[in-house]
Amino acid sequence: MPTLLLTHPDCLLHDMGAGHPERPDRLRAIEDALAAPVFNRLKRERAPLAQLALVERLHPPGYVEAIRAAAPKQRLVWLDPDTAMSPGSWNAALRATGAVVYAVDQVMSGAARNAFCTVRPPGHHAESSRAMGFCLFNSVAIAALHARAAHSAERVAVVDFDVHHGNGTQDAFWSDKDLFYGSTHQMPLFPGTGALSETGAGNIFNAPLSPLDGSTRFREAFTTRILPALDNFAPDVLLISAGFDAHRDDPLAQIELTEDDFTWVTEKLIDVADKHAGGRVVSTLEGGYNLDALARSTAAHVLVLMQASS
Ligand SMILES: [Zn+2]
Repeated sequence: MPTLLLTHPDCLLHDMGAGHPERPDRLRAIEDALAAPVFNRLKRERAPLAQLALVERLHPPGYVEAIRAAAPKQRLVWLDPDTAMSPGSWNAALRATGAVVYAVDQVMSGAARNAFCTVRPPGHHAESSRAMGFCLFNSVAIAALHARAAHSAERVAVVDFDVHHGNGTQDAFWSDKDLFYGSTHQMPLFPGTGALSETGAGNIFNAPLSPLDGSTRFREAFTTRILPALDNFAPDVLLISAGFDAHRDDPLAQIELTEDDFTWVTEKLIDVADKHAGGRVVSTLEGGYNLDALARSTAAHVLVLMQASS
């Protein structure tokens, strides 16, 4: 069974203006890296648009309509100080969510072993009725709800190694013990949530890191907190919020990881997925703002997914 790679040119048309770190060139850099011959075995498909009914499993119809209505005919509209919409943003957001939902369909049906979604905008900061932190729809949370509603998955886990805490995903999962959220992230840092004490219904596992913690503390957070909890939860499918902004070259944070750390954590997560979830893993891009580091880190992550599916 192959590793599925999903993207769509519409994801390049969401453009928050010159100087914004969450920019279309991020996807171009990843595409360039994934053009190397070693990635020829990927099964590449274009992401479909998400059906609104699926988006509305998480976001109220009034919020979805407000986002659609906010999309400008020209220039930019700012939803908060970090998050803007351009004329292409609505379709990009539906492609991003559509990619993760479709990847869940393909992996749950056995058409693919695992999948990576090279999409933007990211999603893990989006709350049910609030766009924030470069995010409009919480694609990974929507896909988790979809895995339960449309497939046989009873327990769905999201592990988030983006350097920012996924407040939106935590919020969506907060009181549902059949959904697991585990996150490493820098604190203090945007959005300010993600303390150890935030545990939801015993299904939320935060492992905050301090600036300059680096590889050793990052791996320790996984081996002592996230991975044992995930193993104990025994997910039927594992979703990954794959942000690569904990890299030492990233301009937005100071956790100082390298590509080797992303290789390591991907291998460890696949071990748990192999044990409990038949290897079913769907990973989607969140942050990562140094183009070279992002491209190298994503390539390292996707290579591990491919090795697991061969
Ligand atoms: Zn981030």
